Amino acid sequence: MNSVKGTKDIFGKTVLEHDHVIKIFRDICVFYNFKKISTPILEHENIFIKTLGVTSDIISKEMYNFKDQGGDNLVLRPEGTAAIVRALITNSLQEDANKNFYYHGPMFRRERPQSGRLRQFHQVGLEVFGDRNFLDDVRVIILAEKFLSSLNIRNKLKLQINTLGEQKNRKKYITELKKFFKKNYSQLSSESRQKIENNPLRILDSKDENDKKLFSSSPQIMEFLDRESKDFFNEIIKLLSSLDIEFEVNPFLVRGLDYYNHTAFEYIFSESRSQNTVLAGGRYDGLVKSLGGRDLSGIGWAAGIERILMIKDKIDFSQKVVGVFTISDGLKTELIKVFSSLKFNANLSFNLIHGGNFKKKMSKANKLNCYGCLILGEDEWKEKKIIWKNFQTGNQETISINNIDNFLEKT
Ligand code: ATP
Ligand code: MG
Repeated sequence: MNSVKGTKDIFGKTVLEHDHVIKIFRDICVFYNFKKISTPILEHENIFIKTLGVTSDIISKEMYNFKDQGGDNLVLRPEGTAAIVRALITNSLQEDANKNFYYHGPMFRRERPQSGRLRQFHQVGLEVFGDRNFLDDVRVIILAEKFLSSLNIRNKLKLQINTLGEQKNRKKYITELKKFFKKNYSQLSSESRQKIENNPLRILDSKDENDKKLFSSSPQIMEFLDRESKDFFNEIIKLLSSLDIEFEVNPFLVRGLDYYNHTAFEYIFSESRSQNTVLAGGRYDGLVKSLGGRDLSGIGWAAGIERILMIKDKIDFSQKVVGVFTISDGLKTELIKVFSSLKFNANLSFNLIHGGNFKKKMSKANKLNCYGCLILGEDEWKEKKIIWKNFQTGNQETISINNIDNFLEKT
């Protein structure tokens, strides 16, 4: 039996890797006073259609939507931001003094499955709501920097940043872009040609090499920005430089969704390949209002866990496993008491072994790759002691039951 195309069971080492990424992400978010939010996987279709734009890839072809038995148009959420904005409004979180949120969980898009491109994938992400202030743009980038550095992948990535300005700036730009692409129609890929009328901005997202060549002579958004938008962007650039954060301005970075304005940024692999964005984000002033909330600005980013794991060096998760068993059937109760009194130790896992004779138990311990075993015997029990057999050295000794935790900490 196969799993659904583009979905994966996550187990064994991979599940530890996912947990590791989430743990680092959570620690950094908590450090900067972000609060966790967890929204449902099911949402009303409207939330996304209204905000992402009907011509976006997600809405036009990737979203899983269906009518449920009650006739509601539902979707499996394709991304986090619009859902969190909905939750902000639903739960009156707009009034909170702290409007920094973080989340992690599965997202769903019906794409052509490839390495690093799944139909159910997993994101970690964060959002900041409030008044528009370039300090927040810089702040979320600082969190991204810390996150990627803690994962030891920052040096494999390039930060690209751009501004999309206000909606009205973009309108003018789109008109000019349309003209330009129409003039150069013959040089465009067939996929990009289809976007000229509805979505010329997204042609700039094209991964086609010939398309990319053409962009170098196309109009650039900077020429269409008003003074305020330019100043806003320059403040961010200046601050990033003074913080020694490495970045490059990519005037063709547009991001695929309607709700973005002003700042857009992506962390991409240095080499060019199609699944090359690891972490992406931007500003979405106006999104909260468009879903019926207050006129709050917002900025955030999301990163794909599968993409992170694609480029991350392998992590050593080898956990020391300690087998625990008795060689006397009469000591089962005593054994379980010892087992239950073991103190939590982040570096050790304890595995109770039962059934079969001594040989069988030892063989089970070997199969579990045990580091060593705690073995309760009649003689030792009388003296409140237990045998410790170290599988690495082959040595065996008797230790006091009261002292197990201390003893293991040192081994
Ligand atoms: P792409 O250009 O690769 O399609 P995107 O712009 O659609 O990416 P976003 O919506 O910005 O991606 O999502 C943020 C991050 O989530 C991406 O940078 C990527 O790491 C991850 N991601 C997006 N789609 C997928 C997918 N289908 N499978 C795995 N990860 C994904
Ligand atoms: Mg995509």
